[in-house]
Amino acid sequence: MNTPTKAFAFLFALTWLTGVVSGQTQVDPKTAIRMLNSQQHQFEQAIVQVADNIYTAVGYHGANTSFIVGTDGVIIIDTLRGPTSAAKAAEAFRKYSDKPVKAIVYTHSHGDHTGGASAFVGSEKPDIYAANGFGAATGLDPAVDPIAMQRGARQFGRKLSPAESTNRGVAPASTTDHDGGEGYLPPTVTVPSSGLKTTIADVDIEFHLAPGETNDAMFIWLPNEKVLFSGDNFYHSFPNLYAIRGTPYRDVLAWSNSVAEMAKFRPHVLVPGHTMPIRGEEASTTALKDYSEAIRSVYDQTIRGINAGKSPDQIAHEVKLPEHLKDKTYLIQFYGSAPHAVRAIYAGLLGWYDGNPTTLNPLAPKQQAEKMAALAGGPQKLTEQMEAALQQQDYQWALELSDHVKWLDEADRKLARQVKIAALRGLAAREYNAPNRNYYLSYANELESGRLSDIWF
Ligand SMILES: [Zn+2]
Repeated sequence: MNTPTKAFAFLFALTWLTGVVSGQTQVDPKTAIRMLNSQQHQFEQAIVQVADNIYTAVGYHGANTSFIVGTDGVIIIDTLRGPTSAAKAAEAFRKYSDKPVKAIVYTHSHGDHTGGASAFVGSEKPDIYAANGFGAATGLDPAVDPIAMQRGARQFGRKLSPAESTNRGVAPASTTDHDGGEGYLPPTVTVPSSGLKTTIADVDIEFHLAPGETNDAMFIWLPNEKVLFSGDNFYHSFPNLYAIRGTPYRDVLAWSNSVAEMAKFRPHVLVPGHTMPIRGEEASTTALKDYSEAIRSVYDQTIRGINAGKSPDQIAHEVKLPEHLKDKTYLIQFYGSAPHAVRAIYAGLLGWYDGNPTTLNPLAPKQQAEKMAALAGGPQKLTEQMEAALQQQDYQWALELSDHVKWLDEADRKLARQVKIAALRGLAAREYNAPNRNYYLSYANELESGRLSDIWF
């Protein structure tokens, strides 16, 4: 049983940080690691009994899979990422029932929910339910696959050593990933935009379309058991309104509205796409209302900033979660980040241009670097400033200066690279936002190994 209302204020109270803080999810290294470890119980491997006839497998891979036992068959909600992990969950479920699989339901088309379906199915041919438009407009253009793979590996910390690994914010660090997608079975039943109410194996079940993390997301409602399966529109972390691996715009306002819609059902149990279920009508409903409000607040702050003529940088530094919500365990920024969300909303609604004519045609990076060096009193002075920033644990500034120094023909570019590596590790240690932490560390390792070209530096 989780404790979603447990206050995390004590973690913040311990915060004491040397150097300059440059991000909203940075605290002193000991606190950061304690916070990330405190999240671990959300995806410890377990079969959680959700109701008399419903079981959820948590921690068998990154996402959850659920098992609903009806009179003459079972229903599977989501199937993990590949058949190896899915087979382990399926085996665990079979302790509760050996009835045939009548239906599989995909809450949305992300691979961590769809790739293991074959492992649940024997000789039967279950109906496979998915939303109208399933798979469309949710992912990236394959044209950018090469870089998306690289960035994805960094965000999830796939190549980090065990000593560097913590977790992925809403998922464990060590997942079986060699067979992703190999068990995928295509949908056979399309849920129309208006939704669908039906009965499978004598279980009344409703499918409601709910665009959010993806446009093809839906939540599943069991009216008799009063259990709601939210998919990835809710989990125990501030939502990933933007993924730093690179994503098309996720409709933030629709996401907030979809979660508000779920709250209206007042579920007795809320089963997220990742992390532990929440039990109790009050706790589940409050969590959904809070979640919707938090997303809406970030959206509204961004819109106000945009219309006041502020740049994404300004708004990202100003955005705050409402005071009464920021310490809720399901809104701590372990996975999603409010500042990143601001930038995503800005770009999603207006594109890259921030409206300031200065940024219409900025100087090329090398020109900027040369002028910065001249301003500092020459490349040597700029290099000294870069080293001083690292010394003072002003890591973000050290990074920014190292990115200038790398363009200077007469500067010590090897030193700049070393400073960048050290600054990235300094920032990583402070981060309790898992994607940021994993990205900083992965990138530092890539730089150190010499795998990255001078373009990346
Ligand atoms: Zn997921």
